[in-house]
Amino acid sequence: MGYLLGVIGNPIKHTLSPWIHQQFMNETSINGIYRPYEIKEDELKESFNLFKKMNIDGFNVTIPYKETMLHYVDDLDERARSIGAVNTVVNQGGKWIGYNTDGRGYIRSLKQSYADLDTFVKNVLLIGAGGAARGIYDALNQESFPVVDIANRTRERAEGLLDSKENHVETSIYSLKEAQQNLQQYDLIIQTTSMGMTPNNRMMPIDLQNIKENTIVSDIIYNPIETSLLQTARKKGARIHYGHGMLLHQAALAFELWTGKTIDPNHILHELEQKLKGGSTC
Ligand code: NAP
Repeated sequence: MGYLLGVIGNPIKHTLSPWIHQQFMNETSINGIYRPYEIKEDELKESFNLFKKMNIDGFNVTIPYKETMLHYVDDLDERARSIGAVNTVVNQGGKWIGYNTDGRGYIRSLKQSYADLDTFVKNVLLIGAGGAARGIYDALNQESFPVVDIANRTRERAEGLLDSKENHVETSIYSLKEAQQNLQQYDLIIQTTSMGMTPNNRMMPIDLQNIKENTIVSDIIYNPIETSLLQTARKKGARIHYGHGMLLHQAALAFELWTGKTIDPNHILHELEQKLKGGSTC
């Protein structure tokens, strides 16, 4: 029998994850099924029990259950524990282990776009402090960037990112306005808030007036593919990085955890862009 995989979340109607994982299965000649499960909060326990009975191989977890899933799995991998959220669950011989591939997926995507990252980037600004930012901040801590500052609307939430971490980077916390005034000191600016996501396409968390030339501006939003922030950055001569790369790489890392197969997902990047332009989301 082939692999039994899926994704749980709510809403999940427009998810592209089944399509992405079908491409990975085709590429690796693996048989299997990856199904979306739209689950209400009060159905979570029952659904997990059903997965156990079905003995599925694993599943992804998306909004709004990434944090809730911490309490359902039998054990957590080190990174998921540190981040405080699970996006991938693996059935390891009847033991259900929670992982988080978001941050590592982000870094992989960024490094594929910018090979000079390690030499070029010293000072990083992370905008936002939600679930995605937690994973990315954790992954940045595994890299060699000396400074990773955080700017968020709600200061306490940004402070929460510093809790319980073996932090290797130096971090200061700023308001969005303070960060905006000092943008010239950053080599890499990572936008992780939901500002600018469809249908609020015109919104930007900060003004890019003060960025220096050649800065990399990265936005993890993938709907639209090019946010207003990225459009502005491009016009100002910055180097830009799109969010759908992270989407593919976090999926490839989850696929590797379930199947042991390593995937280079870039061959479906163009097709994914076409699908996203057609209005699908993950
Ligand atoms: P989340 O946990 O709800 O966090 C939302 C973040 O946005 C917080 O920092 C929040 O600030 C900020 N924010 C929201 N509205 C704002 C406003 N009006 N003004 C200023 N700040 C505002 O969400 P998430 O899961 O981190 O997701 C964030 C975005 O990342 C979404 O667009 C999602 O689609 C995208 N994403 C992409 C990928 C990918 O693979 N490319 C993966 C995950 C997420 P406060 O703390 O002040 O509320």
